[in-house]
Amino acid sequence: MFCPKCGSLMYPKKGKWVCSKCGYEMPITKEEKNEKIVDKAKEKEVILIDSEFSVLPVDENVTCPKCGNRGAYWMLKQTRAADEPETRFYICTKCGYRWREY
Ligand SMILES: [Zn+2]
Ligand SMILES: [Zn+2]
Repeated sequence: MFCPKCGSLMYPKKGKWVCSKCGYEMPITKEEKNEKIVDKAKEKEVILIDSEFSVLPVDENVTCPKCGNRGAYWMLKQTRAADEPETRFYICTKCGYRWREY
């Protein structure tokens, strides 16, 4: 950490950065920055779910078993045996939870 005022090395003192040369003080923001990174990661997750499944049809009569949201993307997947019925996969439009129905 370097002083924004004079460019000298700063040292932590009582939750603040203090410049060893001019005495300039500023709050330590390391924890705040970490929280922001976590928030961005969460945002990315949501965006990924949106872009991956936005092409799928939405069934609004389905309720998510995890968050109770009404509405889920769905798709059909053929099981191994041809005479077996297709399996319906659901992906919650809100939390991204996936489940299937037979
Ligand atoms: Zn300084
Ligand atoms: Zn959900």
